[in-house]
Amino acid sequence: MYNFLPVAYFKNQFAQFVDAQVSIATHALHYGTGAFGGLRGIPNPQDATQILLFRLDRHCQRLSQSAKLLHYDLPATKIESVIIDFVKKNQPNKSFYIRPFIYTSDLGISPRLHNVEKDFAIYGIELGDYLSPEGVSCRISSWQRQADASFPLRGKISGAYITSSLAKTEAVESGFDEAILMNSQGKVSEASGMNIFIVRNGKIFTPGFDQDILEGITRDSILIIANDLGIEVVERPIDKSELLIADEVFLSGTAAKISPVNRIENYKLSQQRPITEKLREKLTAITENREPKYKDWVFPISIA
Ligand code: PMP
Repeated sequence: MYNFLPVAYFKNQFAQFVDAQVSIATHALHYGTGAFGGLRGIPNPQDATQILLFRLDRHCQRLSQSAKLLHYDLPATKIESVIIDFVKKNQPNKSFYIRPFIYTSDLGISPRLHNVEKDFAIYGIELGDYLSPEGVSCRISSWQRQADASFPLRGKISGAYITSSLAKTEAVESGFDEAILMNSQGKVSEASGMNIFIVRNGKIFTPGFDQDILEGITRDSILIIANDLGIEVVERPIDKSELLIADEVFLSGTAAKISPVNRIENYKLSQQRPITEKLREKLTAITENREPKYKDWVFPISIA
């Protein structure tokens, strides 16, 4: 199904991906007690001896914070240095996605985070487009995004993805590509694995951190880029009906990049989406290191 990168990181060392295996009794498999990251890398289009990772520092920081929520002390500097070695060992020659994660690796029962062995591991896959760049159709999910009072939403915690999975499957099985989840206040929160933006009268709106969203790194990049392009961005709650009458809607995520939305339920969106396209072009140029102003966001790794 996927082309996995040949080398993985597992139990404090590099191993062949095929040999990095866990037991069926693994604690995290039963309790969802893991947390993960996801970042993209590409061979530098201007220099084949270099790999470019987008916002490596922010991804490592978020995974370190997610680990902290699960009572695991994993400094961002440690994650960063292992990812760099991981890339050097794999020498990928196509666009790829790195999945660094932590999980309760103990063999034993009883849900808990104390007195339980944990592990930090990494694998990678080759990854082109995750969603169609032409645009996607979205169903408004019957499943609600969790609330921070019952789930640590500031982390990218494995167990949260049961809701994403239910929402995505519900959407796909009823003929849509993606799901948009409302939060417990009935406001727009995010998609199954992406943040969401709407455009109205030339301004961009996106739900803020008080709307039970994941702290998306692509989202953060878009806020900065839009501001630099002189496009006003406002973080505030968004109603369902406002979503349905927006001029443009797009989703953002590491895997999805910037994905335009064509249709929500039976409400069609215009194929004219100047702001989405402007942001998408800029983000692509930045990830390919063609925008000197944003070179700090692009981490080069020499694989020569
Ligand atoms: N929300 C959820 C639930 C996600 O899984 C993701 C993907 N990590 C995002 C938003 C977007 O985050 P990012 O831009 O950091 O990939």
